[in-house]
Amino acid sequence: MSVFFIADLHLSESRPDITQAFLDFCSSLTCDTQALYILGDFFEYWVGDDDPSLWLNPIKSTLKNIAEQVCPVYFIHGNRDFLIGKTFAKQTGVQLLNEPSIVELNKQRVVILHGDSLCTQDTGYQKYRKIVRNKFIQFIFLRLPLKTRFKIFAKGREQSKEKQQQVMDMQILDVTPQAVSDLMESYQVDLMIHGHTHRPKIHRNARTPSRGTRIVLGDWYTQGSVLEVNDDGFLLNSFPLVEKPDNSRTI
Ligand code: MN
Repeated sequence: MSVFFIADLHLSESRPDITQAFLDFCSSLTCDTQALYILGDFFEYWVGDDDPSLWLNPIKSTLKNIAEQVCPVYFIHGNRDFLIGKTFAKQTGVQLLNEPSIVELNKQRVVILHGDSLCTQDTGYQKYRKIVRNKFIQFIFLRLPLKTRFKIFAKGREQSKEKQQQVMDMQILDVTPQAVSDLMESYQVDLMIHGHTHRPKIHRNARTPSRGTRIVLGDWYTQGSVLEVNDDGFLLNSFPLVEKPDNSRTI
């Protein structure tokens, strides 16, 4: 049995190489696969489930094939695709999970989340997060014309790039150790899996100075990154993308 975790693919029309890497990864899944978890920022941005863009079709149909024929696919929202909704879930067969969620792997309780909520030092971002995650604000936003929503997102991405260039201290974009240990304590778990920071690594002693592991998934900008959990343990793998990537990256 294998369970796979991926995050931060940032799929977009401008990066067909990443889409292809994802489709290739999907076709490599065997019937031995027990579940696929997508921990947010699957898409570079998401303006609403009514986006009719054609490049989304192979992604949607592949997810549906996996969900129907291979294994359940679970989805946690990221800071870029938090507007993925019930229509997308219905079209693709993916099951939307609350954040954080608790799952059981190898008889161990695990807390899973995208990870942006752990970056508590970035107070400006946390304020913004509270607003855009507000259900009423989302309800209003999703009733704007599609064209207007695309414009708003394009503007937001420009500002986000500018802001990140200004941030000299990259620490602020990483998780706060205290937020990690607080969350693990509150759910009484010794394993956490998240993405968002694009710093793939297995951190020991994340809950207390002597216990708790935090696994960070990598992004898919310059390589593919997959965490496989099987009977033997954890394997944080990366593999090359086929085409040459560009280097404009934001988290
Ligand atoms: Mn993110």
